[in-house]
Amino acid sequence: MPKDFLKGAADSCDVVVIGSGLGGLTAANILARDGLSVLLCEQHYKLGGLATWFKRPGGHIFDISLHGFPYGMVKSCRRYWSQEIADSIVQLHGVRFDNPMFSLTTTFDREDFTRLLTTDFGLELATVNNFFDAARSMNFYDDQTKTTRELFDEYFPGREDVIRLLMEPITYANGSTLEDPALTYGIVFSNFMSKGVFVFQGGTDKLIKSMEKEMKANGVDVRINCDVEKVNVNAKGIKSVVVNGRTIETKAVVSNSNLRATIFSLVGEDKFDKDFIDEAKAVRLNNSSTQVYMAMAPEDTVPRDTGDLLFSSTAERFQTELLLSRDITSRTFSFYYPDTRPAGKARTLIVSSTNANYADWVGMTKEEYETSKHDLVETTFDALEKYVPNCRERIVHAEAATPVTFEHYTKHVDGASFGTKFEGLTVSRSLPEQIPGLYHAGSCGIIMSGWLGTINYGVIVANDVINQLTDTSATSPIATT
Ligand SMILES: Cc1cc2nc3c(=O)[nH]c(=O)nc-3n(C[C@H](O)[C@H](O)[C@H](O)COP(=O)(O)OP(=O)(O)OC[C@H]3O[C@@H](n4cnc5c(N)ncnc54)[C@H](O)[C@@H]3O)c2cc1C
Repeated sequence: MPKDFLKGAADSCDVVVIGSGLGGLTAANILARDGLSVLLCEQHYKLGGLATWFKRPGGHIFDISLHGFPYGMVKSCRRYWSQEIADSIVQLHGVRFDNPMFSLTTTFDREDFTRLLTTDFGLELATVNNFFDAARSMNFYDDQTKTTRELFDEYFPGREDVIRLLMEPITYANGSTLEDPALTYGIVFSNFMSKGVFVFQGGTDKLIKSMEKEMKANGVDVRINCDVEKVNVNAKGIKSVVVNGRTIETKAVVSNSNLRATIFSLVGEDKFDKDFIDEAKAVRLNNSSTQVYMAMAPEDTVPRDTGDLLFSSTAERFQTELLLSRDITSRTFSFYYPDTRPAGKARTLIVSSTNANYADWVGMTKEEYETSKHDLVETTFDALEKYVPNCRERIVHAEAATPVTFEHYTKHVDGASFGTKFEGLTVSRSLPEQIPGLYHAGSCGIIMSGWLGTINYGVIVANDVINQLTDTSATSPIATT
């Protein structure tokens, strides 16, 4: 008989959270802390969603999405998780850019960017200050028609080099493009510029284990290998979910699954108004990614000044399409030095990440797919050679992940790394108006993606659920920092 992963679970609860990405985990924690009975179902055998890691023989532990987040994580983790989690957040000091237009190292904060823009890039201090102030003052309720390119053209006309410095990391951080609304850029960029780039010391495994402990202490019933197949609704709203063939009654559902999957697969389009479905169909998915994971021999390492995060590109100019192309010219290398996991084995790991299109990787034969992955690893070695000489001989383990890998492990439609484009946020927020008790808390809309964005979105949605279940009608405003 297959193992019953729901053994001992109650037949009914206040809230079912579908998925254990950072948004789902945070929502579950807040809901349980507020005294609600919460069942968290994760289809994978591990919690964390895209905030995940894997181990390989030789003591190597690879992090998938631990490359950098803004300082706001400290406050969010302290408030919504624990002081202990917040205390493990540390700054990355070596953010490097290397491309045909410029090579530099920065702490990636306003002060250092102002220095670079006024010296190396020769801009007027007043222009730089005005740009920073404009970006910082943007909020969700602003004009959403101005694009990021228009914002740049207003302050830095004709300065492709400046645009590259300002945009390349954000495109990498959340898949946004020059054609997206300027406010999505302004909010995310300003979040980073407040103090720089931060990571979680101890690795994603330590973070997720600490979160699991905290959730369980607060009473969440946490279940892995539990695939929610269906969300049942009736005229009044949410009725139950079907998970691993079992029906569990619930008053509310927080879906951390992909927005499109939530609407079209878990609930079903016949349960929504036609206009809403038209709007939902028009929501664009964000792009996916490829990654190459590389481990140095245990006794080997790279000099610290190689950087922590290196935005490298061989493209003469910055173009969003090039960042997605199969013909890779831009790679972001994350260097994990032994102090990433001070309590673990001393290892140096390198992860190369590149934005990618799902369509370029799906539908291949097994052989073509393996060959393409092999090419990806080989071309990554070629690119890394400039920063880690003789890397082919020094790397003892290398493997690749593609959009198909991300889809496989998270069920994200088309392997989307950052959920949906900006328009997904409105659709996500209006779910409870369509079906009382149905909520979505997961990557969407650029500002609500990434580690900080999804944690904050989980909090917002948990508060909405609490308001609903305690019969107050107020809904939370969109918080963006
Ligand atoms: C390569 C890469 C690098 C990244 N780097 C960074 C970075 O450096 N900094 C940063 O801030 N962000 C980064 N991100 C983005 C960040 O990881 C995500 O935005 C964030 O982790 C997503 O959280 P989420 O709450 O939306 O849920 P997700 O992580 O998308 O998880 C959703 C969960 O739901 C589960 N699920 C889906 N359907 C079901 C179902 N039917 N039943 C049960 N469970 C289900 C999935 O298995 C999954 O665990 C990166 C992403 C990628 C792909």
